[in-house]
Amino acid sequence: MDFEAEFGAQLEALKAEGNYRIFADLERDCASFPRVRNHGEGPAEVTVWCSNDYLGMGRHPKVVEAMAETSRACGTGAGGTRNISGNAHHHVMLERELADLHGKEDALLFSSGYVSNWATLSCLGARLPGAVIFSDSLNHSSMIEGIRHSRADKVIWRHNDPEDLDRKLAAVGPDRSKIVAFESVYSMDGDIAPIAEICEVARKHGALTYLDEVHGVGMYGPRGAGVAERDGVMDRVDIIEGTLGKAFGCFGGYVSGSRAMCDFIRSFASGFIFTTALPPAVAAAARVSVQHLKQSETERVRQRRQVARLRAGLEANGIPHLDNPSHIIPVMIGDPVKCRMIADILMTDWGVYVQPINYPTVPKGTERLRFTPGPFHSDADIDHLVSALNSLWSRCALSRQVA
Ligand SMILES: *Cc1c(COP(=O)(O)O)cnc(C)c1O
Repeated sequence: MDFEAEFGAQLEALKAEGNYRIFADLERDCASFPRVRNHGEGPAEVTVWCSNDYLGMGRHPKVVEAMAETSRACGTGAGGTRNISGNAHHHVMLERELADLHGKEDALLFSSGYVSNWATLSCLGARLPGAVIFSDSLNHSSMIEGIRHSRADKVIWRHNDPEDLDRKLAAVGPDRSKIVAFESVYSMDGDIAPIAEICEVARKHGALTYLDEVHGVGMYGPRGAGVAERDGVMDRVDIIEGTLGKAFGCFGGYVSGSRAMCDFIRSFASGFIFTTALPPAVAAAARVSVQHLKQSETERVRQRRQVARLRAGLEANGIPHLDNPSHIIPVMIGDPVKCRMIADILMTDWGVYVQPINYPTVPKGTERLRFTPGPFHSDADIDHLVSALNSLWSRCALSRQVA
C-alpha cells in the first residue's frame, strides 16, 4: 500500500467536490475582539463573524484574570486524571456552580462538550438494561458517536417533532430503558426545540431526557442557564449537558442532573475516568464566567440587539437567510464552491471572516455562511457586513429573497 498516494488521492477528491477545508490563521486580541490579526492571505486585520464565543467572555478581564491568577497560584496542568490525582478544589467549586445554574443536585466536568456527550450517552446506552436511545435526526456528531459506541438500539425521530417521538416511543416495549436525546438550539439552522412538549412525551413513556444546551448556555434564560430555563422547564429535563467553550469563553464540557446519575457516570464512563482533568485555571476562569452571566444581562441584551440589526439589514436587501428564533443567522448559498468563493472574497476584499459551512457539517445543497453577531460588533461593523454581502450578491448575480 502506498499510503502517501492514498492520502493524496482522497484529499484531491475532497478538493474536486469543493469540500476541502482551509483554516484561517488568526490571532485574537483581547483589546480589539472581534477584530483579529490575520496571518494568512488578505488584510492584516479582519473582523470575525462566526465565533462561538458569542458574548466575548473569552476576553472578559475578570475571566482572563481568574485564569492567569489561578495558573500562577496552582500551576498549569491538573497533573492527571481525577481517579489518580484527585479533584482539584477548582473542579469541585465549578461543579457546584454548574449544578446551581441548572437547578440540579450535581454536575460532572469533562474535557470538552464533545467528550461529555460521547462519554455520557455511551455509558447510559451501554449500562442501562435493554437501553434504546431515541435521537433527534439533527443531533450533533458527538451524540451520534456516543450512541454508536454504546451499542444500544437507536431510534431516530423526526427533527423537533414530539408527535413522531411519541409514536416511536410507543412502538418500543415498556420493559426497555428509554433515553430521549436532543438539543435546545440547533447550531446550523438556529432553530429551537419544543422542550416542554418533548419532555411531556418522554414522561408519558417513562423515558429519561438528555438535553444538549451547548448553544443555549450563557445565552438564554434570566441566569443564562439555557433555553430550558427561559421556558421554565429545567426541572423536567433529567440531564442537561453544556460546554464551557462557547458562550462561557473558556474550555471544557459538563453534564448536570441527579446526584446518583452524576455518580454513575463518574464511576462507569471511560471518557471521564481515563483522561487528564481540566487545568484548575480553566475551571476557575469558567466559574467566574458562569457567575458573571448569572447576574449580568448586559452582554445578552447587547448581543440580541446586534442580531436584530443584522437580520433587518439582510431583510432590507433581500439576502436569503433562515428565519429562526435564535442568535444564529445562516445565509444560504446552496453550493460548496460558491460558498467557499464568497467567503474568500469577503475575507480578502472586505476584511470579513466567516467560515463557509459545507458538507459533512450540513447536507449537500444547503451550504451556507453562518453569522453570529455579538455584543462587540458595532453598528458600523454590521452595516459594513451588509454592504459587503449586498455588493457580492450583485457582482455574482446571486438570487435575492423577496420580503
Ligand atoms: C460544539 C458542540 C458540542 C461540543 O462542544 P465542545 O465543548 O466544543 O466540544 C456539542 N454539541 C453541540 C450541539 C455543539 O455544537
